[in-house]
Amino acid sequence: MFDYEKVTETVAAVAASHAVAVDKAGAFPAETIQAFAEAGLGGLISSPDVGGKGLGMVAAVHVVERLARECGSTAMIVCMHYAGTAVLEQHGPTDVRTAIAAGKHLTTLAFSEVGSRSHFWAPVSSATADGDGVRLTAKKSWVTSATHADSYVWSSRPTAGGELSTLWLVPRATAGLRIDPAGFDGLGLRGNASCPITAEDARVPTAARLGDDGAGFGIMMGAVLPWFNIMSAAVSAGLMEAAVTRTAAHVGGTKLQHAGAALAELPTIRAYVARMRIETDKIKALLADTLAAVGGARADATLRVLESKAAAGEAAVEVTDTAMRVCGGAAFRKEVGVERVFRDARAAQVMGPTTDVLYDFIGKAVCGLPLF
Ligand SMILES: Cc1cc2nc3c(=O)[nH]c(=O)nc-3n(C[C@H](O)[C@H](O)[C@H](O)COP(=O)(O)OP(=O)(O)OC[C@H]3O[C@@H](n4cnc5c(N)ncnc54)[C@H](O)[C@@H]3O)c2cc1C
Repeated sequence: MFDYEKVTETVAAVAASHAVAVDKAGAFPAETIQAFAEAGLGGLISSPDVGGKGLGMVAAVHVVERLARECGSTAMIVCMHYAGTAVLEQHGPTDVRTAIAAGKHLTTLAFSEVGSRSHFWAPVSSATADGDGVRLTAKKSWVTSATHADSYVWSSRPTAGGELSTLWLVPRATAGLRIDPAGFDGLGLRGNASCPITAEDARVPTAARLGDDGAGFGIMMGAVLPWFNIMSAAVSAGLMEAAVTRTAAHVGGTKLQHAGAALAELPTIRAYVARMRIETDKIKALLADTLAAVGGARADATLRVLESKAAAGEAAVEVTDTAMRVCGGAAFRKEVGVERVFRDARAAQVMGPTTDVLYDFIGKAVCGLPLF
């Protein structure tokens, strides 16, 4: 039996030792991702048929949440890898699935575009039939791990035209792709390498198509949305947990010397810490219930999937903001380690589906209206 919890601790230690430097330099956490792959976690959700560990969302949430406590950038890279892997497990070629299972292939999602921005379900880029292949032309605005992923799960408009989308497996080495390595100098998740990628007549074989032409929207909603939303919520939960732990350590260990009392002896400080703990535990409970809803194919599973990312993203901003207040100037000067999670936590609100789009979807679902 693969002890994913044990190996995650080993990888988390590597993440912790590199996190500050990764954030400072805006560098891809290559050592941590290598440790992640070598520990067998790259193939965590891959089928045993291709050599994977065959585990599901519960294990993946554990890995992502635990890594986020140490390094938000690493956790988001892993979130994208699992979301892409979920698509490839259903529609990808065996050789790539086998490489992922063996920890030799990192993948990600290349959905967002300059033209349709956070509306990832509506690509404006094209795939033009060209003999036994297609030529992809696109301006992808953000691709996590752009400079390091072996492949991108890529969206375009259908080859046959129409409103929906088609997905492709695009190797990073494809001629005609141009990654802008200077294109990501983020406020947070600074090690993500979430760079823009331009495709100018980048040719891939027709066999690189994932699912049918025009089936991309269905795959996005059926596979990507649950995996991405739930993993994103796990990133937020991990960042919140880090904020609570570091804040409690700071206020417990920092004294007002003249008063002979620790900061934690101030009732106001304790009340803030209590609220941080409650918000974090509420999100963990929602995440656990979302996993139960999806695992049990419950009628409210889609609602929970939508709620989990929105609620966790908002709560993470609130909890990390409180951490900054409670830890005072020491936090502002980066001594406490909560300032990094405060910055990292803000990404979830604006990553598609953004919080405001999710509120619209959830409102529609509650009112019995169609989402699209
Ligand atoms: C760190 C990071 C990593 C990322 N990694 C990836 C990746 O790997 N792959 C990928 O495909 N994308 C990725 N993205 C892109 C992300 O998913 C979004 O597409 C991007 O953040 C949207 O930014 P924008 O400026 O285009 O937002 P805009 O779309 O311009 O949105 C601006 C504002 O309008 C709001 N808004 C838009 N539409 C609606 C609506 N219908 N109702 C209510 N409000 C609305 C938004 O919520 C937002 O507040 C990443 C983004 C970040 C920040």
